[in-house]
Amino acid sequence: MPEGTQVEPGQFVVAPLGPVEYLGVVWPRPEGAPAPQIEPKKLRAIVEIVHDVPKLPRVSLDFVDWVASYTLSSPGMVLRMMMSAGRAFEPSAPRYGVRLAGPPPARMTPARARVLEAASNGLIWIKSSLAEAAGVSPGVIDGLVDAGALLTEPLPDWHALPLDLSRKRATLTKEQAEAAHALLANTSGGFAVTLLDGVTGSGKTEVYFEAIAAALGQGKQVLVLMPEIALTNQFITRCEERFGARPAEWHSGVSAPLRGRIWRAVAENKAKLVVGARSALFLPFPDLGLIIVDEEHDQSYKQEERVAYQARDMAVVRGRLGDCPVILSSATPSIESLVNAEQSRYRHIRLGVRYNAAGLPAIAAIDMRASPPERGRWLSPVLVEAIAETLGRGEQALLFLNRRGYAPVTLCRKCGFKFECPNCSAWLVEHRFRRRLECHHCGTFAPIPEKCPHCGAEHSLVPCGPGVERIAEEVAERFPDARRVILSSDLTPSISDLRETLREIEEREVDIIIGTQLVAKGHHFPGLALVGVVDGDLGLAQADPRAAERTFQLLNQVTGRAGRETIAGRGLIQTYMPEHPVIAALVLGDREAFLEREIAARRGATLPPFGRLAALLISASSREAAELYARSVALAAPPAAKIKVLGPAEAPLSVIRGRHRYRLLVMAAREADLQAYLRLWLSGVPKAKGDVRLIVDVDPYSFL
Ligand code: ADP
Ligand code: ZN
Repeated sequence: MPEGTQVEPGQFVVAPLGPVEYLGVVWPRPEGAPAPQIEPKKLRAIVEIVHDVPKLPRVSLDFVDWVASYTLSSPGMVLRMMMSAGRAFEPSAPRYGVRLAGPPPARMTPARARVLEAASNGLIWIKSSLAEAAGVSPGVIDGLVDAGALLTEPLPDWHALPLDLSRKRATLTKEQAEAAHALLANTSGGFAVTLLDGVTGSGKTEVYFEAIAAALGQGKQVLVLMPEIALTNQFITRCEERFGARPAEWHSGVSAPLRGRIWRAVAENKAKLVVGARSALFLPFPDLGLIIVDEEHDQSYKQEERVAYQARDMAVVRGRLGDCPVILSSATPSIESLVNAEQSRYRHIRLGVRYNAAGLPAIAAIDMRASPPERGRWLSPVLVEAIAETLGRGEQALLFLNRRGYAPVTLCRKCGFKFECPNCSAWLVEHRFRRRLECHHCGTFAPIPEKCPHCGAEHSLVPCGPGVERIAEEVAERFPDARRVILSSDLTPSISDLRETLREIEEREVDIIIGTQLVAKGHHFPGLALVGVVDGDLGLAQADPRAAERTFQLLNQVTGRAGRETIAGRGLIQTYMPEHPVIAALVLGDREAFLEREIAARRGATLPPFGRLAALLISASSREAAELYARSVALAAPPAAKIKVLGPAEAPLSVIRGRHRYRLLVMAAREADLQAYLRLWLSGVPKAKGDVRLIVDVDPYSFL
């Protein structure tokens, strides 16, 4: 670049680093910071200013700095997340669409007439969507182009119908209207966080649509985060009905070229409504007017890999930096958000009843000690009878077990040998449909052998315990005429398959659904009457400060799928400890009692949100090296009044992918500056040698 060329913060530039040229962003110096001392001869000139990529807005730069500082990551790593934009930085190949032109063709057919009718709005259409809208094959479109009735034209980079805010909206109930009124007040004046807390099916979505409409009406951009991309489909359909246009979708299932176009459309303030996974938070919105975090309690908002961040918390930060309101929505809010609401940091809006007087499902526990299943079976006679009744009425049943595969452990009856992963401290899980044993931590798999690899006995291998596939097998034996489907991430790997299965369930082409947590969240299945939880105790066994909270949320969500419309819903929880406070609260529908207890326990132990946590995870291919380094890290911990360091201890999952793991846990008082402490500590830690690695996880959600 010629000397004296001006660059602005946020601009994309190409700069040399050693012999290689990199795409980078011009970064502002923090306010008041002195100019860095760099030898002039070490400075290199910028190669090129990238003019055709919109520059990052200032708020995005601030956000990167903030997230990097909070998570103790490098700003470059966070910026890289912001730039994971498919092909946004490459010149895009022009795409073509068609538009109505000229006189109708000489030869008319009903199919052709439908196309011309659909295209009569004069807009430019993607060929495939026009074919779909008219219900014809793509060949008909090509024929009309050849006949001169349709004209081929380049498509604009971002192709979305304009939103229509004048559409008819749902008539809100009195409770909903009051909630919407309060929500609009909260979201009309800059940064404020509102917890929208309403039972499953109470119309939270309907209510926050009002806030979306208001923000869009002011020309602002709106971001809706969802924990599970499978959920976005119903939401997108509802948006189409409400606003007359599809929102932009942002998640791992979106193709690279489309990601590129969406990234640019967001940066250019053309994409107004975006629905996405947690990574959508890092899109470069220049004029964001509202952020909604749906199912805010969901664990999948926490990213563990690379930059470890909690998207719900970072959404609040993004809102504050951009002076934009935030709505956290859930039927089972996180303890963190509830305490924030209690302490008036967040505003709290509640919806207490389901729409249309649909009752909440009646929940009961099945005491497995009193009504055990037969040997080798997993469903109690009480649950089996309830399923039979449900099917007899032509209604749907769902069986929930949060465990993929057929059986979690396989063992030899003769010698007691158990199949373990060669790379992890974990059992191999039998997957009968795929006929193999799989490790759920590293993905290793092997065929199921004929003989025991240890003692050589034949036909001696037995599966222990159930996974969803085994439950499906029992269901098939008991209810051979019922139409079944298993919903599990390994069996429905593609998003389109999953959406198809969800559609079949919605349209009652299925009688019994057997599923993992994939079915627990958000779905609206009108025909579902009964939800059976196969193992209510599964999540309670984990040594994790949030085990009780998570189990309560998950079971509340999954049983909340039942009876969403006119039919009465029922939830049955199989348990060996019906007296456990979590199970008891679910049965009584007494959320407040559970929360009171849980919040008191957290306060007593200064666990989040009353204290702050950070995890240090040390790993190495040798156990000795990992342990030795973990000890040296612990020794370097500076003393501090309001902070204590626990460990090192071998991680519960002591080996993953051949790496031995040790953990340290930092517990800090709420008012302590945890980040400053960690920075000081890490600056004095000896350098890791060989393949030893140290990872910092601020606000950890996983303790394995
Ligand atoms: P939530 O988000 O609280 O689970 P939803 O907004 O999804 O609840 O509402 C549940 C169901 O009830 C949806 O099918 C929704 O369309 C319907 N519904 C809710 N409120 C209304 C309303 N005021 N008018 C018409 N349908 C409504
Ligand atoms: Zn493994």
